[in-house]
Amino acid sequence: MNTTLYIIIPCYNEEEVLPITSGLFLQELNDLIKKEKISEDSRIMFVNDGSKDRTWELIEQLSKEDEHFIGICQSRNRGHQNAVWAGLMEAKNMADITISIDCDGQDDIHAMEDMVDAYHDGCEVVYGVRSNRDTDSFFKRFTAQTFYKLMNRLGAEVVYNHADYRLVSARVLKELADFKEVNLFLRGMIPLVGFKSTSVYYERHERIAGKSHYPLSKMLGLAFDGITSLSVKPLRFITGMGLGVSMLSFIGVLWAVITQFLGRTVTGWTSTVCIVCFMGGIQLICLGVLGEYIGKIYMEVKARPRYIISDRTYEKKNEEEKSGA
Ligand code: UDP
Ligand code: MG
Repeated sequence: MNTTLYIIIPCYNEEEVLPITSGLFLQELNDLIKKEKISEDSRIMFVNDGSKDRTWELIEQLSKEDEHFIGICQSRNRGHQNAVWAGLMEAKNMADITISIDCDGQDDIHAMEDMVDAYHDGCEVVYGVRSNRDTDSFFKRFTAQTFYKLMNRLGAEVVYNHADYRLVSARVLKELADFKEVNLFLRGMIPLVGFKSTSVYYERHERIAGKSHYPLSKMLGLAFDGITSLSVKPLRFITGMGLGVSMLSFIGVLWAVITQFLGRTVTGWTSTVCIVCFMGGIQLICLGVLGEYIGKIYMEVKARPRYIISDRTYEKKNEEEKSGA
């Protein structure tokens, strides 16, 4: 089969887990090559996301040991979404299909075969979907479920229980490259590109080694980014809420006038304070949401590059060949 697969793996401070999982990825790639589902020039592409430990040295080492390993290095840490994007954009001219997966072995590597099969059956996008969340804590499960429900309510179409483990064809990536936003939320953007898609189910395990880089604050950040990048419903919600509160205020004004006529004006201090506080709170929240969107516009207008590559293992290889020749 002549399909070239590039497996895109973002890595941030993963020196503990990389030596373990790199072998597993290679084994899976070789298996798929042996079964003639993908071509011999398929590659495993690590994207070093500005790690502060020995991750990049390890990637360079791997690329010397086996030609199937290649790596690119972002000039600094830009976060998981940008790292995956850098890998996808780098691979789109070399590969026919890409699969993005985390490097910690949490996602079942063997699901890749089903993904490639689905591609050969005509799908351009294959989402890896977690079949259960038993290994997650109650808190993570609860927050994740709330996240998906909220996202869908707010008009951002995301596949339930799908993170960033997915197959995307080069054809889709070339269309995706025309999406110019700087705030990346891939799992919301890819459904927008369209094309035939399907899902593959797998079980997600515990991390093989190392620690998660997604504490609650980053998770909330991602959720907020997702909602504000894909939907303007919160703004509409504010307008609706503004109308509702205005109506309540109107009733309040009527009430105030009537009590004035009834001559009971001294009392009512508590209610005045309550209304002032309530209105103040609502207004601040609304201003915050508006500010959030304005901030996004500001970042988008600057149109800064979404990734900057400082090193590539394969460029280096070419240089070495040249200097050796
Ligand atoms: N990652 C990255 N840049 C970051 C944080 C994480 O490239 O700033 C990578 C990380 O190396 C891993 C993947 O993103 O391959 C998912 O991160 P992690 O496993 O820590 O998150 P979790 O699975 O706990 O949500
Ligand atoms: Mg993980």
